[in-house]
Amino acid sequence: MDSPELLRFRTAVDAARAELARASAEVRDGKALEELRRLFLGRKRGRVTQLFEGLRAFEAAEKREAGRLANDLKTEVQAVLGEAESHLAVPAEAGTEEDLTLPGERPYGGAPHPLRLFQEEIEAVFLEMGFGIEEGPEIETDYYNFEALNFPPHHPARDDWDTLYIGDKLLLRTHTSPVQIRVMEKRKPPIRIIIPGKVFRRETPDPTHLPMFFQVEGLVVGEGVTFAHLKGTLEHFIRRLFGERIKVRFRPSFFPFTEPSAEVDIECLSCGQKDPACRVCGGTGWKEILGSGMVDPHVFKSVNIDPEKYTGWAFGLGIDRTAMFAFGIPDIRLFFENDLRFNRQFRLK
Ligand SMILES: [Zn+2]
Repeated sequence: MDSPELLRFRTAVDAARAELARASAEVRDGKALEELRRLFLGRKRGRVTQLFEGLRAFEAAEKREAGRLANDLKTEVQAVLGEAESHLAVPAEAGTEEDLTLPGERPYGGAPHPLRLFQEEIEAVFLEMGFGIEEGPEIETDYYNFEALNFPPHHPARDDWDTLYIGDKLLLRTHTSPVQIRVMEKRKPPIRIIIPGKVFRRETPDPTHLPMFFQVEGLVVGEGVTFAHLKGTLEHFIRRLFGERIKVRFRPSFFPFTEPSAEVDIECLSCGQKDPACRVCGGTGWKEILGSGMVDPHVFKSVNIDPEKYTGWAFGLGIDRTAMFAFGIPDIRLFFENDLRFNRQFRLK
């Protein structure tokens, strides 16, 4: 015969089992399931936990039977909880699934570098006007980089082009102008080209200088080509790039390979010509963006083009610096740090 204690224990186990059946039938979500788990297996007040604690009151003879009852109940509770969880699994996941009405996350597939985008923008304007695109070597001879462009050896103007030499004969081109010479050697006028490319100078990197940067030059040679063509073409180009209303001015300058020469300024976009302390224009209200001029007859002679018959004009512009100005970028080095947070900001058109 069971002792009254064991009978009470049996009754308590049966009651707990009945409660388990009732409560588990009402579990509809993860939260209810967790409550059910706590109700039965909670470390302090859980039904099963308390039954196990009650085992201490039994004599050794009945302890075994009571322990078996408690263990069976525990196994049942665990099975019921497992079962309930597996039923919840699908709906519970559905609840945390992505909201299909939200806009999708577009995977980033890569894109051209901001400088490349800006270069393409420049190229597009000139291609529309019937210019072709030419390229040439980045390692040049002194002849193509300087001499043929009317910089005689030891001419002081060479000092303005801080040059990286590779031995006595070779250098890293300081501008894309050598390509002008190479094209004029091979082709006779009419010539109408632009030359985008990488150039090199001996510079210490700082917010506005790098030893490597990008340029685009242009060259037009033909009969009856005048400074008016230069001015009209460059004004059109600048307005296409910066907008119809941009103020442009031509300022006399000097370059060894053009005569006369002009630098071209546009109004400062940063301060709108209004801030005497502007760091972009130095308070002048103007920002130089390119150099230009009529091709010097000496240059034509070195490529056997008759300067009595043909005239021409050329220009050169720094792509990096112009892009900095157009986009309001304070430091040229940002272009080459490969920080995607920077690179992804630029989308033209
Ligand atoms: Zn300014």
